[in-house]
Amino acid sequence: MFRVAIAGFQHESNSFAKVPASLDRWKAAGILHGQEIVNEYETSTATIAGMLARLKKESDIEIHPLVFTRLMPMGPMTVEATEHIMDLMLKELSEKGPWDAVLLPLHGAAVSDKYLDADGEISEKVRALVGNNVVIGTALDMHANVSQKVVANADIVTVYQTNPHLDTFEQAFHCTDLVIKTLRKEIRPTRCLQMPPLIVNILQQGTSDEPMAGLLKFADEVRQRPGVLSISISEGYPYADVPQMGMAFLAITDNDPALAEKYSKEIADFAWSLRVQLNGHGTPIKAALEEAKKATAWPVVLFDVGDNVGAGTPGDSTFVLHAAQEMGVTGIMQALADPDVVKKCIALGVGAHIDFLIGGKADDMHGAPIQIIGTITAITDGKYSEPKPSHGGFRFYNDGPSVAIATDSGNKILVTSLSAMSSSLEQFRSAGIEPLDQKIIVAKGTHSPRPAYEPIAKKMFWLASPGASTADLTNFTYKNRRVPMYPLEPQTTWS
Ligand SMILES: [Zn+2]
Repeated sequence: MFRVAIAGFQHESNSFAKVPASLDRWKAAGILHGQEIVNEYETSTATIAGMLARLKKESDIEIHPLVFTRLMPMGPMTVEATEHIMDLMLKELSEKGPWDAVLLPLHGAAVSDKYLDADGEISEKVRALVGNNVVIGTALDMHANVSQKVVANADIVTVYQTNPHLDTFEQAFHCTDLVIKTLRKEIRPTRCLQMPPLIVNILQQGTSDEPMAGLLKFADEVRQRPGVLSISISEGYPYADVPQMGMAFLAITDNDPALAEKYSKEIADFAWSLRVQLNGHGTPIKAALEEAKKATAWPVVLFDVGDNVGAGTPGDSTFVLHAAQEMGVTGIMQALADPDVVKKCIALGVGAHIDFLIGGKADDMHGAPIQIIGTITAITDGKYSEPKPSHGGFRFYNDGPSVAIATDSGNKILVTSLSAMSSSLEQFRSAGIEPLDQKIIVAKGTHSPRPAYEPIAKKMFWLASPGASTADLTNFTYKNRRVPMYPLEPQTTWS
């Protein structure tokens, strides 16, 4: 029997966000062990589901899910959280081994106050623990800032190839498949990672839109060539201020390092040639609201790019609501995180008429609190599930206790206790608000809300809204990234 372990953590760390990924928050999100991991993920389409499904096809493999945890994107991991989680993974791997293979479900954009490349660090530590004869397979998010350290310490590395991430299962399945073939000595993977100094703007990261669609199509052609085992393009995560921040191109070939180098370079060159198109700008908030006001078919969906909870922001930005109030635009549906207001509303009960200042409290980057006057229409536990394909393949959501408020001015505000992504229509339906009946929907996110909102939107705008995930990277002061990089230094060259 082959013994295969699964252990990992996933975090997309926003160096500019002010809420740290502390150990308390990781524990509250859940540090899962053994069967708990299977229970949470087996029926989802997330990375671990893909790993389990592929492993289960083999009759001579013992599957050992050891420890797994994931936390919503926010600021970097604290030293305490980093040490706790890494020590736990290494302890379990050490005590329950020996292993034939180790699968690492990581994100690839984890930054810690201790290590700028937390994914690289854990990869190196796991390799040092298990030795060179154990096959390591790492499955990453497409926002991974893939480092040479991650690639050097794994035999197989795969990256989601869709954004929104709808192929999480498939890529993890593919990763595990190559790990099994390596284990059986059917293949001998050789890797090459190219890291041109190139950033794709968050607004251009949609993989069904140009220029990413064309780039991925080219990668697909290369993938079909003889000797190729895997091709990955990582878009990178520009809000992590680290040396490995940026796009990355990985080729894995069968015992042919020169071919891996040639093909990864070819795809990186093609991406570099698209660099002008990979840059992007959002629509100013007021211009988008003006368009929404003039619309004759609804809902019009406004993506709040600056408060992209999936990129580490607090989900309490009020810039759009303030602008709408100023302009007299109503008929808006949106979520807003404010745990204190939720507590007060729960004490008052459904039917109570409230007048509170809501949102804009987590930090000084997401607008001032906004006055909301209205009636509480529902109180929920904030839990809902999404059976349809969703960003990241997740099925179960928890926004914490939440209250729905119908404002006197005609808006529907869902106040959540936790920072809440807008990934599922069920988020609002579970609180008695029907998204299809709304005029204007503000979805917090850039690409993650698309599977839910694109099918119902009559018109969509991506906002040039301020915040810790704003599309305009010139708002940030970087200390650790490579210099120069395109487009921050427009004259950047690469060969
Ligand atoms: Zn991602």
